[in-house]
Amino acid sequence: MNDHTVSRRKFLIGAAVAAAAVPMLGMAPQARAAALPRLPATNPQAKALGYVADATTTKNAAHKVGSACTNCQFYTAATGACALFAGFSVEPKGWCTAWAKKAG
Ligand code: SF4
Repeated sequence: MNDHTVSRRKFLIGAAVAAAAVPMLGMAPQARAAALPRLPATNPQAKALGYVADATTTKNAAHKVGSACTNCQFYTAATGACALFAGFSVEPKGWCTAWAKKAG
């Protein structure tokens, strides 16, 4: 293999990686969030933490009015991810007993 062949191979690999990445840049945050499956209510940790997909429906005494995933420090709006539930996204209007007020 000569230098020219190696350079061409590197170029083609770089072009393929770039082509794969470009469509992600134009996607809305909601579309990227779709990559993470929604946390199922049957998840054992979700049950243990009293997770609900709609904060207004919880009967948990620990719930403070107005608290939801969107204003929780563990929530990442861009992906819908919660730091406590790796590999899943949570409902923006969801809630669980681990809720902690987001700073700012
Ligand atoms: S820790 Fe926060 S973001 Fe995660 S499910 Fe509970 S309330 Fe929602």
